[in-house]
Amino acid sequence: MSASIRLRNVHKRYGKLHVLRGIDLDVEAGQTVSIIGPSGSGKSTLLRLLMTLDEPDEGSIEIDGESMWTVQRNGADKPADAAHLSRVRGRIGMVFQHFNLFPHMTALENVMEAPRHVLKLGRDEARERARDYLEMVGLGEKLDAHPGHLSGGQKQRVGIARALAMRPDIMLFDEVTSALDPELVGGILQIMRDLAAQRTMTMLIVTHQMSFAERSSDRTLFFDQGNIVEDAPSEQLFRAPAHERTQQFLQAVI
Ligand code: ADP
Ligand code: MG
Repeated sequence: MSASIRLRNVHKRYGKLHVLRGIDLDVEAGQTVSIIGPSGSGKSTLLRLLMTLDEPDEGSIEIDGESMWTVQRNGADKPADAAHLSRVRGRIGMVFQHFNLFPHMTALENVMEAPRHVLKLGRDEARERARDYLEMVGLGEKLDAHPGHLSGGQKQRVGIARALAMRPDIMLFDEVTSALDPELVGGILQIMRDLAAQRTMTMLIVTHQMSFAERSSDRTLFFDQGNIVEDAPSEQLFRAPAHERTQQFLQAVI
């Protein structure tokens, strides 16, 4: 089951650096949204807040209407309690640019790890689930390979299978093709395209792959300096960007 996302006035600062400057965002359950924009504009920070890898300084984040964080400017409201937070957080999966696999574990063991120890599945059930997802991403032949013996594209497939094995309602992808050799990019994009088409998860995808964003996501957000400068149906944003800053960015990258 997919889940909706709602952010209101979300701010994040690192010291004097004001990285997110009042983000408002609504994503419907099952939608796929691409996020584009210059380096340092706050794209990863936004995903990290959703993944609870970091906390907002101000604002609110809700998943399916359930509050994840509510932080007032005066700090009076505390973030949601830890048990609640971990339950909401359990609905969200994330795939990173650098695969962050456990090097001493096989592909199968990497994917089994969280279902075993977070979901407390039995060994056989976790193994079966891990095998299913590795087969789904085309790695049925590499179950027992260690990351050191896999290509970048194969490692990223393990990363995707590992996130999917937790059966999340929301998937966050942060530049998952940026570290790959060009010939390996297409296969990973195809997996994301297939997942988006199923509409069983809500997906937020930070990407530099403009044609993927245009063709495979419902909406695209253009981020600049901690703001969502433009938020439009993907075709519209790429073909007829409304903001000058978006036009400049697209001209520079395409
Ligand atoms: P993007 O993903 O759009 O390239 P990020 O969200 O990673 O941008 O970073 C936005 C800004 O915040 C950058 O200037 C970055 O250096 C800074 N930043 C990100 N994380 C931290 C952190 N943990 N501590 C200090 N500064 C950070
Ligand atoms: Mg980033």
